[in-house]
Amino acid sequence: MKCKDYIVHYTSEENVRVAMALTKNITETARRQHGLSPVACAALGRTMTGALLLAGDYKNREGVTLRIDGKGPLGVIHADAFNSNRVRGYVDNPQLDLPLKANGKLDVGKAVGTDGEVAVTRFTPEKTTYTSQSPLVSGEIAEDLAYYLYTSEQIRSTINLGVLVERDYSIAVSGGFLVQALPGANNDDLAKVEENIRKIGIFTSYVRSHPNGEGMVETIMDGLHYKELFRQPLYWRCTCSLERIENVLLSLRNEDKKELLQDPQVEMTCRYCGAKYVISHDELAALYARKNKAENK
Ligand SMILES: [Zn+2]
Repeated sequence: MKCKDYIVHYTSEENVRVAMALTKNITETARRQHGLSPVACAALGRTMTGALLLAGDYKNREGVTLRIDGKGPLGVIHADAFNSNRVRGYVDNPQLDLPLKANGKLDVGKAVGTDGEVAVTRFTPEKTTYTSQSPLVSGEIAEDLAYYLYTSEQIRSTINLGVLVERDYSIAVSGGFLVQALPGANNDDLAKVEENIRKIGIFTSYVRSHPNGEGMVETIMDGLHYKELFRQPLYWRCTCSLERIENVLLSLRNEDKKELLQDPQVEMTCRYCGAKYVISHDELAALYARKNKAENK
């Protein structure tokens, strides 16, 4: 069944907010673009989903950049959510292979490591609004982001992130939810929500049987007075373009330009999204000639 990626934000009179994101197609695209191993895919899928969930200020088209550096063998994980509904990301060592944990699960914590920190930058299309970091707790991403929200932004939250990889390495499930207690939320309501969250069980198992996340937010918010605020499709998108690549080529030193012109073509791969740009010798020569002409005018 073909499911669309999307995000929803709900709020309640009891000052509890819930965001849920389903990101299977995004994580599958990242897997193919970067040639990710299962454990790399799980780590990046969770991180990209986390970035989307943290970008809660959709009225200002908020974006969130996460940089998770736990000094583990996976290296650094980078994810950028833009405009509250687009995301891109990469890991330093996309092909990392690790043995499964004793319970048969991918060992994301070991891949990421725990000897480091998560750095969070919040921004809008106009400006960077906030940047802060906190130490990693488990390297499993969800707990690390919850700890970050508590220590850096004083927000009590529960975060659940999951990626389920099939035997053929394709992505069966990717997504997560973020439940935040806003100032004024009372302990009885929060206890009720916690109990509700337990009913969801394992996130990936739930989504396996409810591929569009049917009933998840309703279960979490059961007993509260809630309403939907925002619903948007989610997309894997990068900000790279041929024009940006050309600008990089134009900014090189003259000797580097000459060296590139020795080759029949130049291939450049965007680190963030894995997109390949191929520029032929003739196109490159024409690009440099245009620039020289413009400068000599
Ligand atoms: Zn790109």
